[in-house]
Amino acid sequence: MEFLLSEADQLIQQSARRVAQEVVKPRAADVDESGEYPEDYFQAFKRADLLGITLPKAVGGADAGTLALTLAVEEVSKYDCSAGLMLLLSSLSTHTIKFFGTEQQQQDFIGPIARGERKGAFCLTEPDAGSDVAGLKTRAVRDGDDYVITGQKCFISGGPIADQVVVFAKTEADNPRSLNAFVVDTDMPGFEVTSVDRKMGVRGVPTGVLTFDQVRVPRDRLVGLEEGMGMKGPLTTLNSLRPVVGARGVGLAEGALTYALDFARQRRAFGGPIADLQAIQMKFAEMAIDIEAARLLVYQGSWMVDQPDFGPSKAHYLSVAKAYATEMANRVASEALQVLGGQGYMMDHPLERHYRDARQLMIVEGTSEVQRVIIARALLDRNLVYP
Ligand SMILES: Cc1cc2nc3c(=O)[nH]c(=O)nc-3n(C[C@H](O)[C@H](O)[C@H](O)COP(=O)(O)OP(=O)(O)OC[C@H]3O[C@@H](n4cnc5c(N)ncnc54)[C@H](O)[C@@H]3O)c2cc1C
Repeated sequence: MEFLLSEADQLIQQSARRVAQEVVKPRAADVDESGEYPEDYFQAFKRADLLGITLPKAVGGADAGTLALTLAVEEVSKYDCSAGLMLLLSSLSTHTIKFFGTEQQQQDFIGPIARGERKGAFCLTEPDAGSDVAGLKTRAVRDGDDYVITGQKCFISGGPIADQVVVFAKTEADNPRSLNAFVVDTDMPGFEVTSVDRKMGVRGVPTGVLTFDQVRVPRDRLVGLEEGMGMKGPLTTLNSLRPVVGARGVGLAEGALTYALDFARQRRAFGGPIADLQAIQMKFAEMAIDIEAARLLVYQGSWMVDQPDFGPSKAHYLSVAKAYATEMANRVASEALQVLGGQGYMMDHPLERHYRDARQLMIVEGTSEVQRVIIARALLDRNLVYP
């Protein structure tokens, strides 16, 4: 068992840390308040080669692996959870093509995202089908050499500013096995950003409702060129990034703890800094225990995604990492805010923002409840055993 980071991983970590401190940290509060997409973050990530970390070298990515992405996401999320999501989105919007697409599709549809020339989004959730992916209703109907896509997707991260999206649609009504993925350019006729959500946190990355009204796409935009991807398309993509969602939580918690610790050293009550009070020290110790446990789970999960046996038989470990790290982020964000007392509740400090941002993590890319369903199923199926 090896716990040391490789030299390549350390370089990516340092590069992300530099961008986090120089670009993200000074802008995070403004980005939250304005709710405007931070193009300056995106350009800084592009200059630092952080947009294609898990994407193939052949198309301009770094092919540096999931652990490297996790490290980068952790660094930028210390200051802004939206920044972590922006890095994650390059992978979320392309992994279906990476796992199931042809070489040509990887060139055409991953390359521009890996190189930071285009932005992508991942369109799975619908107004009437979220956790229940098999129940989604968007249809893709074959018409000669084209497919005609009709349906609506909601809560799509980065959807309102995307140049292209991967959209999941059924080629036969009510048949989950007929689920397929298509690449749609957002300037194609029939595509519309119907509304942009007003939301609690992670306000730098807009989410919204996307409508596909008879969007006609040529067959070469059917990911893999053959029908029949089924549920393994979205599930493999989501599984590959569950630890990375966890990394957004780990980074957020590390940032919150560090900020509260600095505050506690300065803030005085009852004749001394509150950091001298044992009740406050115990809070910090609890937070550190929680962060360290989550960080190991997230790093282990990231490593597992890159192993040759990555697949459904490992899904529960990725769910453990996602559930634990995202729930940990909520506990730590709350306790760190508490350390600041009344000031923690105010927008003059970043902790109320971390608290709002953390709440998103227990819902996106599979809720905490859904992660538990996956873990319980693994136990009952004897996929997860403690002999
Ligand atoms: C800010 C934000 C960004 C998002 N970004 C994207 C994106 O980029 N792309 C995308 O496709 N989607 C995105 N989503 C959607 C997200 O993945 C879904 O909201 C999530 O999967 C839950 O689906 P739902 O909202 O329809 O809730 P539902 O599935 O209706 O669930 C409602 C409640 O029931 C629980 N529940 C459901 N099924 C079960 C079960 N079997 N056992 C126990 N409990 C269960 C859920 O845990 C939840 O508490 C985003 C959501 C948010 C809030």
